[in-house]
Amino acid sequence: MSTAAIDDSKISPTPDAVRKEVVETVKRFVEREVVPTASDFEHRDEYPHAMVATMKELGLFGATIPTRWGGLGLDTLTYAMVVEELCVGWMSLSGILNTHLLLAYIIRNFGSEEQKDQFLPGMAKGELRGALCLSEAHAGSDVQGIKTVGKRDGDDYVINGAKMWVTNARQGNLYALVVKTDPQADPPHRGMSLFIAPKGDGVNVSRDIGKLGYKGVETCEVSFEDYRVPSANLLGGEEGRGMQHVLNGLEVGRINIAARAVGVARAAFERAIRYSQERQTFGKPICEHQAVQLKLADMATKIEAARLMTHRAAKQKDRGERCDLEAGMAKLFASETCAEVTLEAMRVHGGYGFSKEFPVERFYRDAPLMLIGEGTNEIQRTIIARQLVKKYPA
Ligand SMILES: Cc1cc2nc3c(=O)[nH]c(=O)nc-3n(C[C@H](O)[C@H](O)[C@H](O)COP(=O)(O)OP(=O)(O)OC[C@H]3O[C@@H](n4cnc5c(N)ncnc54)[C@H](O)[C@@H]3O)c2cc1C
Repeated sequence: MSTAAIDDSKISPTPDAVRKEVVETVKRFVEREVVPTASDFEHRDEYPHAMVATMKELGLFGATIPTRWGGLGLDTLTYAMVVEELCVGWMSLSGILNTHLLLAYIIRNFGSEEQKDQFLPGMAKGELRGALCLSEAHAGSDVQGIKTVGKRDGDDYVINGAKMWVTNARQGNLYALVVKTDPQADPPHRGMSLFIAPKGDGVNVSRDIGKLGYKGVETCEVSFEDYRVPSANLLGGEEGRGMQHVLNGLEVGRINIAARAVGVARAAFERAIRYSQERQTFGKPICEHQAVQLKLADMATKIEAARLMTHRAAKQKDRGERCDLEAGMAKLFASETCAEVTLEAMRVHGGYGFSKEFPVERFYRDAPLMLIGEGTNEIQRTIIARQLVKKYPA
């Protein structure tokens, strides 16, 4: 194919050689800059500015933004592999990218040409940094229950309400802000709209939420008081499509979560198998005790299955197909696997697994987020079941 035929506003399949090079580069970065200090940063709950600067240099803030707007133009499969590598080092690094690239994805797919030209180049450089303002204190799974409202006033919308659990709220400066533009709409999603909302007057990042894991990256409460956003920032220029836009973006978010889970589980497994060869009890390395061998075999097998499911969903997305079912199944299986594997890795380490001197305690604390984020696994199961009933009509 001649280069003239390549549409640089779209994502084409990433050639194998490029994919390999990108993944190897990220792997080297993780080994050199992340693994040696991640636990220290995590224990201090400190934002990893230097690591983020390297991620910017590597172009990761533009990983899935097409080259026309200065991004790397990587396909979803390559992105999933990058996320896995980052999470082998520290899961929080992928959280810094996730909602940023989710917003970029939504703008690329549903934004007007003006919106793409205005926001995507800055996002690709990491100068504009995205965050998702969807959940509220009383509404996480039940997103149609949100109460934040946007009212048209001349050329602006005026937004009032409060969002909860906004990851990247402080470091981010461009929010995907989901509000009700018609609170009376029935069904409620028809009254929901998404704004590309730059941080400004009327936006208050009020509180950082203390967390079990996923430290270093901030997750905050954000309130909006008479915050004015230009009507030109209504995604796609049409009210009532916000829920559809965000659900589509969450498919990519779920692939991200599945890939994260594979990365954290792999890190835990790799530590466990190494430890099992070094630690001796009853005159032999513990990897020669059958009870430990059974754990290692189950851990590795489940991680392999989770990775295959994640890659399958990513490939389907790359073919331009909806992948609710596959992304949901991958997210469900990979996150449950991660929770199981990190606990087993801790057991293989015995008492040392419970100490802060070994990173398995960090993997164990990070794992539960994947059971909850981007739709809890209970909700995943209901989505999966609905899709299955459609797939197998009576
Ligand atoms: C660390 C962290 C970071 C986050 N980052 C962001 C972010 O950047 N932006 C953002 O918008 N949100 C973010 N979230 C919010 C996250 O998406 C929600 O926490 C999640 O969707 C669950 O919502 P909830 O906490 O309100 O739980 P609820 O919806 O109240 O659920 C409580 C329990 O009830 C179950 N449940 C609820 N409804 C059903 C049902 N119909 N059937 C079966 N079971 C059900 C759930 O599975 C869960 O077990 C983050 C959350 C965390 C913990």
